[in-house]
Formats: sequence, structure tokens, C-alpha cells
Amino acid sequence: MWSPQAPEDPLFGLMAAFRRDEDPNKVDLGIGAYRDDNAKPWVLPVVKKADDIIRNDPNLNHEYLPIAGLADFTSASQKLILGGDSPALKEKRVTSLQTVSGTGAVHLGALFLAKFYKPKSQRTAYFSDPTWPNHFQIFSNVGLSHKTYPYFSRQTKGLDFDGFYNSIQNADEGSIVVLHACAHNPTGVDLTQDQWKKIAEVIRAKKHFPFFDTAYQGFASGDLSRDGWAIRYFVEQGFELCIAQSYAKNFGLYGERAGCFHFVTAPSSDAQSTVGRVASQLAILQRSEISNPPAYGARIASLVLNTPDLFAQWEEDLRTMSGRIIEMRKALRSKLEGLGTPGTWNHITDQIGMFSFTGLTEQQVLKLREDSHVYMTKNGRISMAGLNTHNIDYFAKAVDKAVR
Ligand code: PLP
Repeated sequence: MWSPQAPEDPLFGLMAAFRRDEDPNKVDLGIGAYRDDNAKPWVLPVVKKADDIIRNDPNLNHEYLPIAGLADFTSASQKLILGGDSPALKEKRVTSLQTVSGTGAVHLGALFLAKFYKPKSQRTAYFSDPTWPNHFQIFSNVGLSHKTYPYFSRQTKGLDFDGFYNSIQNADEGSIVVLHACAHNPTGVDLTQDQWKKIAEVIRAKKHFPFFDTAYQGFASGDLSRDGWAIRYFVEQGFELCIAQSYAKNFGLYGERAGCFHFVTAPSSDAQSTVGRVASQLAILQRSEISNPPAYGARIASLVLNTPDLFAQWEEDLRTMSGRIIEMRKALRSKLEGLGTPGTWNHITDQIGMFSFTGLTEQQVLKLREDSHVYMTKNGRISMAGLNTHNIDYFAKAVDKAVR
């Protein structure tokens, strides 16, 4: 078999370059995983607790899960993202499958749409420009064509709302619109609730299909309902939609691959039969792709989600992570402003979540790497989780030097 050499994944290439660098002051701002104030991975205390309980359970075994995954996990995941009193749950309009984390959920959704959503010539998926780069690969792999809608304004380093709105309005009717529910990756720029309402209106008017990707619920603001607001609003408005949900960031279960895919049908007299048909097809797709999902991470998340005191502790852990990141945003902005670094830096605190689009140019990014051993992606994105009280001064001074 002959196949051409594929390019290296840019992010994994960056991580390898960081590991090779022997400078004691090196800073890793590429990493898409939470780090504590000592730049170390953090096992959430609630995850440690749940892990201990599960490991000591004499009935624990390693049997296969059902095709759709652990039922306690998928039902708790529905409540988490849709809200316990969601009309869609009361009316049994939701079907959910456990997936291989968020990536697997995006893939299962894309695969399902590729098979059942409109004839090939009439369906295009729209991604924000920029977006999580894997969206392009996942959708292309299943044969869905894609375009982008404007999202980030280089001038304001905030949302290009008009560009976004107009692009969705001009898209062919019935397009698939992929939306980041909160903590947009890579920009950290989110919509206000009013802006979400306007986008919902235009999606409805154009009969588009909303596809929500939610990888940061609770991790962005520390408040699970606030971070889930956009999805809950769309569901209340009666949209048919799907949701790819990841537990990598908000539980720190990166390598355990816990996630969920939800399909919500619109209210109608045959909604339940629609859900049944969708569920039957999703089960067949899941069977041919992964047979059944991995158990351990889902067991941990399920125990926490279904046990009130563990759930309360999880919320506390979420506030610890989001709080530290928000503190780092404030500190970075104030240090850059204090140094009189050319440019404006309010966007650092206006943005939210794991990532910030700094506005640094590719040239400045390379200069930071060469002169100061600071590693970030070429588009100027930094992972706020890579900053801490020990390296933030060093980083702010390095930025100051690079932009002058
Ligand atoms: N979607 C977005 C927007 C992401 O940022 C990520 C992770 O970085 C994912 C999905 C999926 O991540 P995972 O497969 O690790 O759950």
C-alpha cells in the first residue's frame, strides 16, 4: 500500500519542540489541558474520590458496556447539558449515546448527518473562522463539505457579529451550523445572550440545523448553567439539533475519553417515534465504529453526576479551575498595561475559557519562541492554563519585548 507522508499535527509538533527545549524558563502555552499553579496536571479531588470508590467496589468488572454506553452516565449527561427540567427531556425527545470523548461525539454526529441529512449536494457544514481544527478533518472524513462563517474580528479581538450573522443568513437553506456552546476554541470569544438570540432567529428563518460542540461546560465561567445557556435556549425554542459533549476538560478526564452525543428532535406529535428511529441508526453506526465505548471515565463521571455531595464538590473543583484561569487573565492584562506594552489588552479579560487569542502575529510568536522559549500556536493562541504565578511576569516581559 502506498500513501503519501501526512503533515505533522501542528499542536503535537509544538509539544515535541517544547519537550526538546532545555531552557529552564521555557513556557508551554500550547497545551489544551488544565495545569495547576506549578504547571502540573491536576487530578480533580472529586475525581480522585470517585476513582477510589470505584476501585474498591468488589463488584467492579471489565465487561463490555452496552452499545449506547452506561445508561446512568448518558441520562445524567442529558440533565447536565439540557437542565433537569428541560422540555425535551420531559417530552422524551432526546436520544443519547456515550462516545469516545468530545471528538468521538463530533464524529458520530457528523457521520449520522452524512448518512441521513439531505442529499449530498444540498448540505454544507459551516464552521466559525477560526475553529477547533479537528472540525475540518472530522467532517471531511465523513464526506460532508464545509465552509466557514466570520467569527473573530482582528480589529477588536472580539466577535465579528455582523459578519457571522450575515454569513448564516446568506448560507443555503438547511445548512449545518456548528456552534461552540461556550469558551470558543481557539479565540475565547463568546456571544452574549442577546447575540445568541439573534443567531437563533436567523438559524430558524433559514431552516439551518444547529450542531453544538460543548467541551467546556463549567470550565469557562465556573457555572454549569451559565455555560450551558445557549444550548438550553435553542432547545426551549424548539429546534431540532445535536450536541457533542466532552468531559475531558471539566472533569480533567482527558485520557479516559468520556463524552456523549445527544440528538434532540423538535416538538411534534411523532417526536418520540423520530427519536426511536434516530436512536436505532446511531446504534448501528456506533457498533461499526467502536462497538461500545470505554467504561472507566464514564463510571467516574457518572458517579459524580449522580451523587449530590460529589456533584457539589465537583462544582467547587470547577470554580477552582475557572477561577485560577480568570485570575491569570486579570494578571496578564494588568502586567501588560503596567509595562505600557503597545496595543490594547482588554481582550485578555473579555475572552473566556482555556484559550486566548492574543492578537500576536506569526512573526511575534516565532520571536517569542526563539528569544524567550515561549511556545504557542502560530495563530497567537495561548492556553491560559499554562500561565501561573511563577511564570506570568516572565511571559508578560517576553510579550512586551516581542511586540516593540
Ligand atoms: N471540541 C472542541 C471545541 C474542543 O476544544 C475539544 C478539545 O480540545 C473537543 C471538541 C474534543 O476534545 P476531546 O475529544 O478531548 O473531548
